[in-house]
Amino acid sequence: MKEKYKNCFYVKTKPCGGSLVSEPRITALVGGLLIDGTGRGPIEDSVVLIRDKEIVAVGKEGEVHVPTEAKVIDVSDMTVMPGLIDAHMHFMGAKTDRFVEEWLLRPWPLGLIKSVFDAKALLEAGFTTVKDCGSRAGIYLREAIKEGLIKGPRIVTAGPALSQTFGHGDAHYLPIEWVKDRRKHYGFICDGVDECIRAARLALREGADFIKVCASGGVLSQKDRPEHVQFTLEELKAIVQVARNAGTFVTAHCQCAEGMKNCILAGVKTIDHAIFPDEEVIEMARGKEVIFVSTLSIAKRIVEKGEKVGMPPWGVQKAKEVYAAMVKNIRWLYESGMTMAAGTDFCGTPTLPHGDNSLELELLVKESGYKPMDAVIAVTKNAAKACGLEDQIGTIEKGKLADIIVVSGNPLKDITVLRDKENIKLVMKEGKIEVQSSPL
Ligand SMILES: [Zn+2]
Repeated sequence: MKEKYKNCFYVKTKPCGGSLVSEPRITALVGGLLIDGTGRGPIEDSVVLIRDKEIVAVGKEGEVHVPTEAKVIDVSDMTVMPGLIDAHMHFMGAKTDRFVEEWLLRPWPLGLIKSVFDAKALLEAGFTTVKDCGSRAGIYLREAIKEGLIKGPRIVTAGPALSQTFGHGDAHYLPIEWVKDRRKHYGFICDGVDECIRAARLALREGADFIKVCASGGVLSQKDRPEHVQFTLEELKAIVQVARNAGTFVTAHCQCAEGMKNCILAGVKTIDHAIFPDEEVIEMARGKEVIFVSTLSIAKRIVEKGEKVGMPPWGVQKAKEVYAAMVKNIRWLYESGMTMAAGTDFCGTPTLPHGDNSLELELLVKESGYKPMDAVIAVTKNAAKACGLEDQIGTIEKGKLADIIVVSGNPLKDITVLRDKENIKLVMKEGKIEVQSSPL
């Protein structure tokens, strides 16, 4: 503890200044190693000053004036960094990993209830924002968190995702009569420009923050493959236009090169999974604001555990086929200078659990060769971009919302420290301390 803050030390129930009546509006995180998320080198003995929801000053101790009324939190020997952001996940709230049975037999409100706990687990793991790329629960959770009913990260959600007939989001392991309303799982089915326009508008009407499309086949869809192109360029263009007209953007599940090219031409903002890019994809993306979102975590877990935990065999088989290419190509995109954000595609099953979302960072460093600093950027600044929130969150800079975590250990030396919840000592969202271990 620094001598000059002795009288100001934060005591659990008693804010600095002695007044218990009004909570101080200014908080200072003092003495930590600051990784601000911009990619700049870390700052030792830092001060981050927060007023209400906002970061008002950042710098070294001695350079930033800490007002006497500030509530000072000593974070010496710890790391201060932006709240983490999972740029691709789902709130499914599944109880088991048996996807097919879960969706058929388990009433979906149970998934909504389970997701309440998943949201809390995410926050406790240091995730202050998540991008839900298609679910039934996301919109309701977002509202419940905003209302203060439950604890959780800021949620940016697609609500129902859009898929073509025989697309990644069409449950084609079931007879078509069983999925007649085509909304059994997590999205809308639409074919042709007119239906695509209507489906995108319906998703917005439901409360989607952005539009999610499936622009290629996938791993966890039975009869298609990651190499299959889905939606036509015209369909994608029409959906992007609907999103733009409403002041938002489109995110694509997309795993094959042709699909990625369609996405880039149509003006899709993020290309998620990105298993099989080619040279042309990289050239087309260069200079544009396209963001690639890695999701190594889901594939890794399916490969390692899918069979044992009862995931559908066709999904396990495809994950095994693509994982090595995924690792290699995410490295290729990263080394080619693409804008890379980190996702997991976790959905809250026992094998894809919310709360362990920092697994992605470990895989990016250990398997795809990211520098730890670049893994940090992928889960902060670039993930904020993938959410369309880069003006508000993702870095610790003056004027940004105070989404900040304090971590025991240094992720630049060992990225795995972020995976251990015990190391997440404090989680602040919009200036409010949501999680704090005691003693800090
Ligand atoms: Zn997904």
